[in-house]
Amino acid sequence: MSETSKTVAVIEGDDASPEVIQPAVELIDQMNLGINWTYPAVGEAAKAETGKSFPDVSRVMIDEADTTLFGSSSGSSGASLFYLRWGKQTFANVRPCLHLPGCSSPLAHPEGIDFVIVRENLEDLYVGVEGPLADLTPLNLVGRTIRKPIHELGEGRYAIKVITRQGSERVIRFAFELARTRGGQKRVTSTQKHNMLPATDGYFLEIAREIASQYPDIDFETFIVDDFACRMIIQPQHFDVIVMPNLYGDILSDGAAGLVGSLGLAASGCYGEDYAYFEPAHGTAPDIAGQGIINPTATLLSACMMLEYLGFGDAAARLQGAVASVYAEGKHLTPDQNGTASTLEFCAATAQRLGIHMP
Ligand code: ATP
Repeated sequence: MSETSKTVAVIEGDDASPEVIQPAVELIDQMNLGINWTYPAVGEAAKAETGKSFPDVSRVMIDEADTTLFGSSSGSSGASLFYLRWGKQTFANVRPCLHLPGCSSPLAHPEGIDFVIVRENLEDLYVGVEGPLADLTPLNLVGRTIRKPIHELGEGRYAIKVITRQGSERVIRFAFELARTRGGQKRVTSTQKHNMLPATDGYFLEIAREIASQYPDIDFETFIVDDFACRMIIQPQHFDVIVMPNLYGDILSDGAAGLVGSLGLAASGCYGEDYAYFEPAHGTAPDIAGQGIINPTATLLSACMMLEYLGFGDAAARLQGAVASVYAEGKHLTPDQNGTASTLEFCAATAQRLGIHMP
């Protein structure tokens, strides 16, 4: 192994996920970039072997790797995902929405869609503080809109939304830096519900405005999230980089995948200060597991982001170009894209364009 070689920890995930991760790894391995692949055991397999679904040895393998390629997980590999996200503080979830000519979009004119959602990845409603309303009685919290103590509403539950200065600053700055490096329109849009949630989402917007003033070369605009959702559908080509709190980003990035045709096209990378991991934005597609028809595009495009992160920018561009060329030709598309090809046929067509033979 050369000194510059990189190590990628691979977690294949559950249900249909290994059906896309395995051929993606095989394809990239055949590109001869000198990547060393390691396979931390997680989930049911790890539990059967060690009694734990995320044993220490697997955590160390993730720590020692330069990055992790993560297949989607259902419950059993969840602990490893929590580690990759909160343990590694991967605060910026980057979800590109790119129209590849030839892909089957529900829009009449999807040409030129090329924006990136940067979703804050660690806080907001995802801090995981929920419980019965009765627990809040000692705090005597009076709702601004309901104008009475919320524990007087009767039986119910609450969840806490947290927006911190540090968490917002770092993800918003990440979005501005990304806008600088992309060849796009050099525009950052922030979106949140600042009218109804002035103390939290209003704070996010206040920080976005502060940071925008430090980037005079980047256009800044903001929309209330419901307005943004409509604009994203009506005029998706307007957007370049869009930054938002966690929950909105989770929902709207799946919506964005719909604009270009399928969750099977949606790539994703989660970046922290000193670690990043990459995973397709879709779930484990349990309804099509075992059929060999899951679309590998989201995984291959996530792998492109990973190669870029590892310093293999040329290889990332070649792989993305090969995927785009498979769509342009349109002969080897999977059923979610109105084709009849299997996952492996799509991968083989991609490999062929790279001059690689897939066994
Ligand atoms: P999870 O709980 O893991 O998120 P889910 O079924 O709720 O699973 P997804 O796995 O994202 O959510 O699947 C939603 C729908 O999109 C399913 O019908 C699935 O088959 C389809 N889908 C998701 N990813 C792909 C893909 N890569 N190729 C084809 N169809 C896909």
